[in-house]
Amino acid sequence: MNYRTILLVGAPGAGKGTQGKILGTVPDFYHCSCGEVFRNLTIDSELGRIFVKHSSKGKLVPDRYTIQLWRENIEAQTQLGRFHPERDTLVLDGIPRNRHQAEMLHDALNVVGVFNLVCSDTEKLVERLQRRALRDNRLDDARLEVIRKRLAIYEKETRPVLDYYGPELVHTIDSTQTPINVLRDMLRVISRI
Ligand code: ADP
Repeated sequence: MNYRTILLVGAPGAGKGTQGKILGTVPDFYHCSCGEVFRNLTIDSELGRIFVKHSSKGKLVPDRYTIQLWRENIEAQTQLGRFHPERDTLVLDGIPRNRHQAEMLHDALNVVGVFNLVCSDTEKLVERLQRRALRDNRLDDARLEVIRKRLAIYEKETRPVLDYYGPELVHTIDSTQTPINVLRDMLRVISRI
């Protein structure tokens, strides 16, 4: 299977989840958040424990577990009739998160656009994450040192994903704006692709 895909790339707190959820409500779009797939695991499963071990320190889960879980999940969503690969555009949020994952997904994804959600104000990102920690009960957002670690990993590992796909596919969006204006900017692009 080769899925027609839009990628959402951005630092933690940039708004990938917010925009992904909205796009996922539009007919013929299907939103998949890799972080959500991990958070839906139970803590008594082996992978659930691996996830908590890494995410609580702000680290990425090793690639082979991540890609395998993602594949299993997307196949299950297809079987359940929630995702229709022949009709839907997949909106991927939080994966691929490094170059190696992008390579591993090369055959599975037909990437038609990449949104680079840029929030140049780091303090704003930190503030958004700390607010989310309480609201969504996210332990990985609660500690400042873990947040800083995730922001550093984003810069080092995830940002190069943009170079992997190249400037023809990447659309940079100012995500310091309000959600409605970020959405407007994204829809302008999506209506063209
Ligand atoms: P955020 O976008 O705020 O960083 P996510 O919900 O996307 O939050 O991810 C939460 C955590 O889940 C990450 O810090 C990481 O530990 C794990 N994770 C999610 N996606 C991936 C991925 N593609 N590869 C490795 N780990 C991942």
